[in-house]
Amino acid sequence: MTADPTPWLDAWVPRSLLQLPAAKPVPSATAEGLTPVRLRWRDGRLLLPEPLPQQQAPPCRLVLPRLVDPHVHLDKAFTWSAHPNLSGTYSGALAANLEEHQQRTQTAVLERAERALQLGCSRGLRAVRSHIDSLGPGAEASWQALLELRDRWRDRLTLQLVALVPIDHWSTPDGATLARRVAAAGGLLGGVLVPPCRGATVRQSLRGMLRLAQQLGCGIDLHIDEADRAPAAGLRQLLHVLERERPPLPITCSHASSLGLLADRPLQRICRRMAASDLRVAALPLTNGWLLARRPGCTPVLRPLAPIHQLQRAGVCVAVGGDNVADPWFPAGGFDPIALMASSLPLAQLAPWQRLGLAPFTTAAAALMDLAWDGVIREGAPADLMLLEASNWSEALMSPPERQILIAGHWWRPPTR
Ligand SMILES: [Zn+2]
Repeated sequence: MTADPTPWLDAWVPRSLLQLPAAKPVPSATAEGLTPVRLRWRDGRLLLPEPLPQQQAPPCRLVLPRLVDPHVHLDKAFTWSAHPNLSGTYSGALAANLEEHQQRTQTAVLERAERALQLGCSRGLRAVRSHIDSLGPGAEASWQALLELRDRWRDRLTLQLVALVPIDHWSTPDGATLARRVAAAGGLLGGVLVPPCRGATVRQSLRGMLRLAQQLGCGIDLHIDEADRAPAAGLRQLLHVLERERPPLPITCSHASSLGLLADRPLQRICRRMAASDLRVAALPLTNGWLLARRPGCTPVLRPLAPIHQLQRAGVCVAVGGDNVADPWFPAGGFDPIALMASSLPLAQLAPWQRLGLAPFTTAAAALMDLAWDGVIREGAPADLMLLEASNWSEALMSPPERQILIAGHWWRPPTR
């Protein structure tokens, strides 16, 4: 008799990310919502997960699907040391960013972004959406480098690219040419919409961008309301346009930070309008926490941040992203989704043992990026897993734990046992 060659592992899995056939009894879960299961896989796909019997010794590892970061900036990652922003202000970040962009080369972006993807993949990311500074001398070099990396990493990681320009650029002939190139490369149109958001002008720019995106079949991802004043000024303009004509394309609002400064009633109303307009939100607590609400000599106690819980309650798809890593906008970070989850405990009170606390890093992030797999562990799902040396959530989050990465049924970083 030959041994069963099917690889397997026993581990805790979040109950909210586990789907079993309806006929199966509902397995028990710990107070932290973890269920012990045996996972097996064949030909890159998971077989039916089997809950472990209670009399068996509990596993000492925790399994998650490989995770998703819906908002990063690979083109400028690791530029802090050469272009620091020691004041920590938004204007200081922009000035240092523009200075770096003047000197940007394809080789430099290739090296930096390769390092970023190595880190991200080894720390458990399976998909990343990166914005690219797409106007100015470093734009072409950045796109060439990131398109090359998208191909190089295709088997291990999905990379989506967004062209980041001032939104009025999309209404110019150069903008239309750029949009055609972005569309041909399968990218998205991006833009910046922060106060002042002058009514008619901004709405005209938004309409031009939406029209172009619809013609070309591109999604949209805006840096909107990354501000600590004029709450939701950009969102109000966007909703004004969309409530008259909503083209059928995915639209993501990244940041939406000043929205969190609204009082409860107007906030509820605008969250409902965002849900009705089918907007998605990428909340970015790290960069917002560092840059916004800065006043000399004062520790900010009121933090502009996308109101994640209120948006979820209204039915908006909300994901959390890492945004900047060691660049003028934020000096720390590391493309580590578990560290991001840990930071989101104090910054956003997102508890991963609650379904809606975990979704922004898993299922909602996958939905925001329109990925084929939602991140739920079920029979037939990709054998794309992260195995953490942790037997509960606290151990997983107290310090970055050791982890092994399974990609399409093969260990990329094999278990150390
Ligand atoms: Zn960003």
